[in-house]
Amino acid sequence: MNPSPYDVIIIGAGASGLVCALECARAGRKKTLVLEKDPQPAHKILASGNGRCNLTNARVAPAYYHAPQELITAALSQFSFQNCLDYFARLGVLTTEEELGRIFPATGKSTAVAEPLKLALAEAGAELVCSCPAVRIKRGKTFTVTTQDGRTFQAKKLVLACGSCAYPQIGGTQSGYELARSLGHTLITPRPALSALCVKETALARLAGVRCQVHLTAKQNNLLLDEAQGEVLFTHYGLNGPAALNVSSAVSRALPRGNVSLTLNFFPQLKDPQAFLQARLETYAQRRPKDFLAGILHESVANLLIDFIGLRKNLPIREQTPNTRQRLVQTLCAWPLTATGVRPWNEAMAATGGVNTQEINYNTFESLKCPGLYVTGELLDVDGKSGGFNLHFAWASGFAAAQALAEEK
Ligand SMILES: Cc1cc2nc3c(=O)[nH]c(=O)nc-3n(C[C@H](O)[C@H](O)[C@H](O)COP(=O)(O)OP(=O)(O)OC[C@H]3O[C@@H](n4cnc5c(N)ncnc54)[C@H](O)[C@@H]3O)c2cc1C
Repeated sequence: MNPSPYDVIIIGAGASGLVCALECARAGRKKTLVLEKDPQPAHKILASGNGRCNLTNARVAPAYYHAPQELITAALSQFSFQNCLDYFARLGVLTTEEELGRIFPATGKSTAVAEPLKLALAEAGAELVCSCPAVRIKRGKTFTVTTQDGRTFQAKKLVLACGSCAYPQIGGTQSGYELARSLGHTLITPRPALSALCVKETALARLAGVRCQVHLTAKQNNLLLDEAQGEVLFTHYGLNGPAALNVSSAVSRALPRGNVSLTLNFFPQLKDPQAFLQARLETYAQRRPKDFLAGILHESVANLLIDFIGLRKNLPIREQTPNTRQRLVQTLCAWPLTATGVRPWNEAMAATGGVNTQEINYNTFESLKCPGLYVTGELLDVDGKSGGFNLHFAWASGFAAAQALAEEK
């Protein structure tokens, strides 16, 4: 047993835990301990953004999250986009903005984010112990944390920053959920998010490798679940790519209630695609279906749609039945597919679900169930769209918890 308890123990040296620990240590809580189960900290930061770390987004706002909007508003009021840029600038990280507001380190490597964080943590005097999974927590006058090797550590305050169970191959674990539950929290069942969609229509496999810009809509029983504009990548099982990933959280939550209807509009850039296609039907009435679609649709997609709609391949558009012509327009604007699943945890970049946010103080991230306990980052039932939003929330919630801890005596 450590004779003098720590001021704060943070379980998890990922994005959220590292910022929280750094700020606690900087605020004078010198006895700050971070316990990390893996041999190295910051595993997901290093893997993020394909090794480039998309650390935040210029558009960060509550609308980009599945979470209570007031919770995100509270987090962003303490750690806004500009605060985030300034924060990493002060850590010595040079950043650059790419399309859609995505921010990356200028070196193009995630080590440029992880290393300065680790260095600053050591300089601030926080203690980091790796290869040390926390397996049990007892709440008495203080928190007593038992680690897998049988050691115990005590602290007046405890932060759970264990992340989610997504991507177990780089550290994702159920452990945080179990620890939170042992301290009185309830969980919203975690499900894979930012993961590709499996669809029922097996013919789609013909398009494997094809990329298209679309507007993708996900509905269940005619109710809109989510929608996204951007690229989809067709695969042998269904749809991948940013647009598919961005609706996957809503699809994942809805699937236990039944299949989800998807529609693809192949002309997201047009205000009125129906009118555009109707005019084109007249302009190119003499063309065969394949030639009618040349110039507006990927050839492989065109071939599949011609079969799907039942167009007569050798007849000009004007000789197809009015019904078939109508179906052509409708299908190009809303090609119906059925999502039957979301790819599993080892392909999911985030989790939707986690510690129930109703049990958390939105301003401080302190538990409403267990005073002195704080829960931050992806362990909470908060998930963002692709583009730097998840890391932003991890930093922001870790920062907000540290501010609250610093104010406590
Ligand atoms: C492949 C991939 C790419 C991604 N790319 C991006 C991106 O570019 N931009 C973006 O915004 N988001 C991205 N994300 C999501 C982002 O990485 C996470 O949302 C973010 O890391 C969550 O931060 P966290 O601190 O809550 O959890 P984590 O970063 O997962 O950290 C949790 C830490 O806690 C440790 N831990 C867990 N349990 C215990 C225990 N019992 N004892 C001790 N230690 C424990 C874990 O080992 C881990 O180090 C990506 C995710 C993946 C998987």
